[in-house]
Amino acid sequence: MLKGIRAMKRKIYVLRYGHRVGRDKRVTTHVALVTRAFGANGFILGDVVDESIYRTIAKVIDAWGGELHVEMGVNSFEYCENWKKQGGLIVHLTMYGLHVDEVIGDLRRDTRDLLIVVGAKKVPGFFYEIADYNVAIGHQPHSEIAALAVFLDKLFEGRELYLKFNNAKLEVIPSPRGKSVRRISAGN
Ligand code: SAM
Repeated sequence: MLKGIRAMKRKIYVLRYGHRVGRDKRVTTHVALVTRAFGANGFILGDVVDESIYRTIAKVIDAWGGELHVEMGVNSFEYCENWKKQGGLIVHLTMYGLHVDEVIGDLRRDTRDLLIVVGAKKVPGFFYEIADYNVAIGHQPHSEIAALAVFLDKLFEGRELYLKFNNAKLEVIPSPRGKSVRRISAGN
């Protein structure tokens, strides 16, 4: 059991804004996989439904375990407004924000539910305004996948890389060379 991650009641959701069906499929899928693998517990695809992404997430969870709250097609603006109304905190990842190292301590201490917004296409001013924190993972342009992974790793101080997921059917046996995977029987 990882102290501070699994024990945490706090919701940590990722909202992917601006997904373009077809064009962004691979990147958005990787945003969702990082959400799960790096210890967050919800993935929200704003404004569109993309069933191919849903199917990939479901397959990964079926094989590798864990739970992830997934919603698609919600209005991104209303979702953020409701999140705030319910007392949650919003972080928008953007190269124009404050350096992550300046704010990560406050974000770790804050126990409110956390919504992390990442963009695909140009992000409208709305998100910069509604966010409690606009956070930069360095001030160079790179990628939403990288930004999310680094942000969650800093939030959890690296502990998320030791997560064990419930109900996994497969588990990697770490190996210096090659691939070693164990099939886990029910009840194990
Ligand atoms: N061109 C878009 C714009 O101007 O809003 C951004 C495109 S960028 C490839 C996609 C997303 O990656 C951004 O919305 C942001 O969430 C994330 N991103 C890229 N570089 C980042 C950085 N240095 N720090 C934080 N987030 C970053």
